[in-house]
Amino acid sequence: MPYKDPEVRKAHLREYSSIWYYKNKEKRAAQINLWQKNNPDKFKVIRDRKIAARKLRYRTDPEYRAKVLAYSKEKHRKFRLANPNPPRVYQTVEERRKRCREWAKKHYVGERREYQVAFSKAYRLKNLSRWKLKHKDQFLRRRYGITLEKYNELFALQNGCCAICGLHQSKQQKAMHVDHCHKTSNIRGLLCNLCNWLLGWCKDNPVVIHRAVEYLHSQNKELSDAKTV
Ligand SMILES: [Zn+2]
Repeated sequence: MPYKDPEVRKAHLREYSSIWYYKNKEKRAAQINLWQKNNPDKFKVIRDRKIAARKLRYRTDPEYRAKVLAYSKEKHRKFRLANPNPPRVYQTVEERRKRCREWAKKHYVGERREYQVAFSKAYRLKNLSRWKLKHKDQFLRRRYGITLEKYNELFALQNGCCAICGLHQSKQQKAMHVDHCHKTSNIRGLLCNLCNWLLGWCKDNPVVIHRAVEYLHSQNKELSDAKTV
């Protein structure tokens, strides 16, 4: 017997089989493929076991993890070199928003969409007070071009009351409106809902309001005259 020592025999076998595998690579691959096709259940079990072992090693072995990360980084770099991204040319904010919406429509579908909606809702509820402040700030910036700080300044300046009728915010159902000039966009002050409507109905025209005041006075005078007679 040439290999009495089992260790030497093992080493020889290992070497021989690796040479054989290398020589008959395609044959062996075909054999494996055939076996996988014929034993799908067994193959699935083995594959899952291998994946689990790999994941465990990734979690526990820092050296292996670094190796995997370096490999994937290099792979990604090579892929990007071969498939460069088209240059991003977005003319306007609106166009970018439109692209964003289209992307979301395409990708957030079915379960993904449901998950996204649920996640956003949960986040909003968890950080409700912060979300409300942020939302209000964004709304004010977008609609009137002022920040929440500026709004609070105006609020303090008016002692929390409507600039026309003097009704306090605590007695109103809605937050006070930011009254602004529709021509120059200048901010005039904070108004309650009804006073805001009032200005809207008379198209911000002081002459109309003046006439309305005169009209009311004359009516009241007629009434009082009639009473005295
Ligand atoms: Zn008012």
